[in-house]
Amino acid sequence: MVSLNFSEISAFKTELENLLEQLRTEAKGEYAQQTRPQEVHVHDSGEEAEAVVDLMINVENLARHDEEIQECLAALKRIDEGEFGFCVDCGDEIELSRLRAYPAAGRCIRCQSAFESADKKTV
Ligand SMILES: [Zn+2]
Repeated sequence: MVSLNFSEISAFKTELENLLEQLRTEAKGEYAQQTRPQEVHVHDSGEEAEAVVDLMINVENLARHDEEIQECLAALKRIDEGEFGFCVDCGDEIELSRLRAYPAAGRCIRCQSAFESADKKTV
């Protein structure tokens, strides 16, 4: 039933671990930026507004990275549980081309686009 063989799965695992490492480094840099002194010690309201915008962009980046980190962790967990490569929503196999493009993908293309359009509606 599982079409991925052991070596393919371990290649994905290595890739996920590298991706995770990279994301964590990026997130760490963003966390550090968030406490930059010039952003913390603003007194002028215009400066403050600018700093708030900076922070908001940063928070968005952080949130996105955080989400990707969670996806990587979830994918690594699925590897351990022998469920890697199957859509978390419908249980079908995820397209191999999709996994190669983004190994942390937890959904097949069909479920992902349904998920994204549902997400857009609520925002
Ligand atoms: Zn699916």
